[in-house]
Amino acid sequence: MSAETLVLGHKNPDTDSIISAISYAHVLNARGIKAKAAAQGNPAPETKFVLEHFKLQAPEVVTSVEGKEIYLVDYSDLAQAPEDFSKAKLLGIVDHHKLGDCTSDAPIEAWIQPFGCVNTIVKMVADYYNVSIPADIAGGMLCAILSDTVLFKSPTCTEFDKKAAADLAKIAGVTDINALGMEMFKAKSDLSASPRDLIFRDFKDFDMNGKKVGIGALELISLDMVSADLKKALKDELAVIKSEGRNTAMLVLTDIMKEGSEIYVVSDDEDTVLKALGATKSDTMWLPGVMSRKKQVVPPLQGAFKN
Ligand code: MG
Ligand code: MG
Ligand code: MG
Repeated sequence: MSAETLVLGHKNPDTDSIISAISYAHVLNARGIKAKAAAQGNPAPETKFVLEHFKLQAPEVVTSVEGKEIYLVDYSDLAQAPEDFSKAKLLGIVDHHKLGDCTSDAPIEAWIQPFGCVNTIVKMVADYYNVSIPADIAGGMLCAILSDTVLFKSPTCTEFDKKAAADLAKIAGVTDINALGMEMFKAKSDLSASPRDLIFRDFKDFDMNGKKVGIGALELISLDMVSADLKKALKDELAVIKSEGRNTAMLVLTDIMKEGSEIYVVSDDEDTVLKALGATKSDTMWLPGVMSRKKQVVPPLQGAFKN
């Protein structure tokens, strides 16, 4: 028997990484490559809404990949892969982030584009291989695009994302894309969790020149939903998270209607971080227009930590 083949999204899975595991597994199977969707954790509230809305099943949770064949979707950073990644056989990557440090022993297929969402790339690959997408998966893919591009408002959003969303909406039978997006972000704005769970809901660690920098992202319909007490609790928890072996722990709190983000930073290099992001030290640092961790937060920090 050959090894099990998994399509696996990143740690602290978001909607894009869970749906792209499902959608890319579908494309692979249609191409005659037997593969199964997997996730490195349970769905967050936004993803739960999407799965229930389109009656899709959450992928199996997998945290060890020893002896398995894997396709990575929505990342290529080791820090976001399972701890035993080196004991798996990497077959492919579908991603829209900065190129990471996951590597392979043999040639792989790689579909990497600077689009707003991995599911836009999955749609492109499906079209390339003439694979049709069922309505339920198309609905999930549409939501992943709406989520990752923050309703097409993020600077990461491209014409390819808008075109894929329109095509997928047609397949899924969605007539009011905006209404679906708002309903989804309402589900995402669920704050009934511990400060730690809120920070880790969409959290990524990065290796920046040997320094571990952890960045959480929380996208809300309005930052007015965050009480002063909760803000304080989030900041206190960031200090704890930083103390767990990180140089920096930060949270990017995005107001999707006002189109900007507040950032909270606990860091050994606070000045470097704030300067890189163009922020002046204050209680709530508001960065107008900042909607994307991968495009507006990670690159300036990577650059600043190089020096
Ligand atoms: Mg993601
Ligand atoms: Mg993504
Ligand atoms: Mg995101």
